[in-house]
Amino acid sequence: MRIAMIGSGYVGLVSGACFAQFGHDVFCVDKDADKIARLRRGEIPIYEPGLDRLVADNVRAGRLEFGTSLADAVGNADAVFIAVGTPTRRGDGYADLTYVYAAAAEIAKAITGYTVVVTKSTVPVGTGREVARIIREAQPSGQFDVASNPEFLREGAAIEDFMKPDRVVIGVESERARDVMAAIYRPLNLIQTPMVFTNIETAEITKYAGNAFLATKITFINEIADLCEKVGADVHDVARGIGLDGRIGRKFLHPGPGFGGSCFPKDTLAFAHTGREVGAAQTIVEQVIEVNNARKKKMARKVIDFCGGSVAGLTVGVLGLTFKPNTDDMRDAPSLDIVPALQAAGAKIVAFDPEGMTEAAKLLSGVTFAKTAYEAATQADVLVVITEWHEFRGLDPRRIKEAMRQPRIVDLRNIFDPEEMRGLGFSYEGVGRPRPR
Ligand code: NAD
Repeated sequence: MRIAMIGSGYVGLVSGACFAQFGHDVFCVDKDADKIARLRRGEIPIYEPGLDRLVADNVRAGRLEFGTSLADAVGNADAVFIAVGTPTRRGDGYADLTYVYAAAAEIAKAITGYTVVVTKSTVPVGTGREVARIIREAQPSGQFDVASNPEFLREGAAIEDFMKPDRVVIGVESERARDVMAAIYRPLNLIQTPMVFTNIETAEITKYAGNAFLATKITFINEIADLCEKVGADVHDVARGIGLDGRIGRKFLHPGPGFGGSCFPKDTLAFAHTGREVGAAQTIVEQVIEVNNARKKKMARKVIDFCGGSVAGLTVGVLGLTFKPNTDDMRDAPSLDIVPALQAAGAKIVAFDPEGMTEAAKLLSGVTFAKTAYEAATQADVLVVITEWHEFRGLDPRRIKEAMRQPRIVDLRNIFDPEEMRGLGFSYEGVGRPRPR
């Protein structure tokens, strides 16, 4: 199969490289000439474990190429995937579909023979049909079908997720398009990955429903964590106690500072907007958004309270800035709420993140970036863990304690053992865990 990938960001690049690994010929396009130039030089513009090797192998095998010209990619393609961004539209919370529709208009000009135009971007219900309308209007004789193939990969584990997904969801409305999509995903079919073929609207909603459910699960356990703190219970035991029930499941029951990232915040907002627009309000999702936003703001307060009501003049060491580990993605990261709120309360911030500091420097001002976690702890009056990078779990608490001005830790990801930390002389606060009486 010949595949064109429009947009070579987190999703487009990973999907393109994985499709090439399946054995297809993939042409990844991006309008960002700098990104394409870097990819052509063999540089990977994002941090995603394993991606450098996968891209290099497939470029060497002649199955993966990069360019800025959409026409070059689309001309002979059996399928054209749209993997451009769908950020939140300013003002109303709806998904900004400008990039998707612009890509559709460009694709329309480039189509030569039959092709399936697939939205891989997360798009509100009705977008696939609008993409079809745009292409038909620009090219009334163009031979094409549209399809929806939402992507469920997680940053940080993207390749594994793409190569071994729990399922593939494909919305189509013709046998011909279904056959093309089945041929593209044949390697996954061979390893018995469930394929959910459905109509386009259903596929579009499935992606949002999945993310809304996961966001709800996180928000649910976060509120349980608040309750645990008030009554001396341990949220981890509660999570385990309920998660072992097969109907609930153990994943996404880890408490923290509130969800962030490139997907959950914008997708819950867009989904809630769709619900209101069609007269089927998603009240649970609306509530989740509100509770989560409040939570991110509350986290700075938690640090301030822990420091006795003020952080004015204090140095706060911050461990982790990205919205989760194993990525350099800073979009809607909780740190973007917590750090400025602490600065506004008079704190000086010294932060370390293994991969996110370049991006973070564009979004946070007045922060001193440290070269190591220990450096961030040096002379700090309190250390705040915001992202649960694996390397933080392996830090030597004694060395941290020696480096700090005052041995105090607010662990918003519960990566340390409270008893051990207190035993070592730290004043320690986690999320949803009993405090010493
Ligand atoms: P991204 O911003 O990393 O990448 C989008 C890329 O598209 C950019 O490089 C941009 O330059 C390019 N682009 C925009 N318009 C273009 C055009 N007309 N022609 C060529 N290139 C164009 O975004 P992303 O994180 O990859 O997300 C893409 C979509 O996938 C979004 O809808 C997102 O919600 C969805 N998604 C993301 C994830 C994730 O973890 N990042 C997971 C599942 C789904």
